[in-house]
Amino acid sequence: MMSSSLSRRAFNKFVLSAVAGSAFGLMGLPSRVMSASPAARRVVVIGGGFGGATAARHLKLLDPSISVDLVEPKAVYHTCPFSNWVLGGLKTMNDIAHDYKVLQQRYGVHVIADMAVSIDPVSRKVRLKGGRVLAYDRLIVAPGVDFRWDAIPGYSQKIAESAIPHAYEAGPQTTLLQRQLVAMKDGGSVIIVSPPNQFRCPAAPYERASMIAWYLREHKPKSKVIILDAKDGFTKQDLFMQGWDRKYPGRIEWRSASGGGKVDRLDAATMTISTEFGDEKGAVINVIPPQRAGKIAVDNGLADASGWCPVNPLTFESTLHAGIHVIGDAIQGSPMPKSGTAANTQGQAVARVIADLFNGRSSPAQRLESLCYSLIAPGYAVSVRGTYQLTPLGFAENRGDISMTSMEASPEQLAAEANLALSWYRQISEDVWG
Ligand SMILES: Cc1cc2nc3c(=O)[nH]c(=O)nc-3n(C[C@H](O)[C@H](O)[C@H](O)COP(=O)(O)OP(=O)(O)OC[C@H]3O[C@@H](n4cnc5c(N)ncnc54)[C@H](O)[C@@H]3O)c2cc1C
Repeated sequence: MMSSSLSRRAFNKFVLSAVAGSAFGLMGLPSRVMSASPAARRVVVIGGGFGGATAARHLKLLDPSISVDLVEPKAVYHTCPFSNWVLGGLKTMNDIAHDYKVLQQRYGVHVIADMAVSIDPVSRKVRLKGGRVLAYDRLIVAPGVDFRWDAIPGYSQKIAESAIPHAYEAGPQTTLLQRQLVAMKDGGSVIIVSPPNQFRCPAAPYERASMIAWYLREHKPKSKVIILDAKDGFTKQDLFMQGWDRKYPGRIEWRSASGGGKVDRLDAATMTISTEFGDEKGAVINVIPPQRAGKIAVDNGLADASGWCPVNPLTFESTLHAGIHVIGDAIQGSPMPKSGTAANTQGQAVARVIADLFNGRSSPAQRLESLCYSLIAPGYAVSVRGTYQLTPLGFAENRGDISMTSMEASPEQLAAEANLALSWYRQISEDVWG
């Protein structure tokens, strides 16, 4: 933990030496920080999600003279936040769609609709699927997560795409799951398989169960949700369970890992899941597989044996490859959860670090945040918020600055949380995509 033992001045000195002593050394520049020449102000960002698009936009806000290439294959990005609301019938896919026009036209980010396939950290080049090669002085890698397809026998990427969606990357997967819910006969079970830690948005499987239960209550009243969990507990558990008792009595069944939730195998042909406690048949099955850092990070040596990318907590520079900063879900950022808010604040922080580095300034100590709203039913939401400091030893939670909806919250307070979720979404979308 930092703060009390490390003064602001000492901290800033640490940031500077951490940055200067790493990659700029490799570039043959003196290890002391100095302003980069205009030719040495090229940043390439891989991934236009919450982390990458934020970093690209904030770099341009901080210093328009920095050249920023943003590589993202999707012309339209659908947010995972609020994609569960789509499953509940409360939002449309259009409501959660964002494009890159504002980033390009108003902020001057060069948006390149392509996929990065390899990184050469020595010559500082990124190769794209379409054949282009982009040179960089600093690279930001923000590819989100990839799925461990081999973790559940019987499950595969092919099955996810055709029959048993994960819907954990919003877009066609969300639409597939939504269509299956609409098409299912009343009276069946919707099974959600929830992954072990660490994974993207720890509350999302349980918000999803809530939103599907809402949809079933309205349209398929004889149907239920079963959550098969690889864990024995989950975030905001008491708040979720209280909400489920109030809004969906008997409709959501949660089975912990030790209580029969651990999945042994899956048979897509018969829509059957086997656990050590027996078989369960689903009318609709949603498997959220275990995860690791996005493929480009893993394939290019930015992740370690944990599957996640270790970074210098002060600069987000990879501890495995100099000159490359990794942000968002892909990093080993514990105790920070993998959330859109966390990725957004990390994008802001890394933009500041790089702009300061180019301009020979010291970076102020930065505070990171994670804020996660979960809608249990229309007009009924709960939230958890935490703030984090970047310290030389790692990310540290500000213990006195954690808040969670109270179990005693009134209906008015729960309704206010649902409204706050809507304004959170508007504000963060604007900060990420302009
Ligand atoms: C159902 C669900 C609900 C959620 N709800 C919330 C919520 O309410 N609040 C919250 O804070 N968080 C929420 N999250 C979490 C949030 O979506 C993620 O934490 C956030 O998207 C992480 O941002 P990121 O930039 O790391 O990755 P992403 O947002 O996934 O962006 C990664 C981008 O990189 C691109 N990419 C990948 N590889 C390459 C490559 N090789 N070349 C170029 N581009 C590439 C991808 O196309 C993608 O656009 C939710 C998640 C889920 C699944």
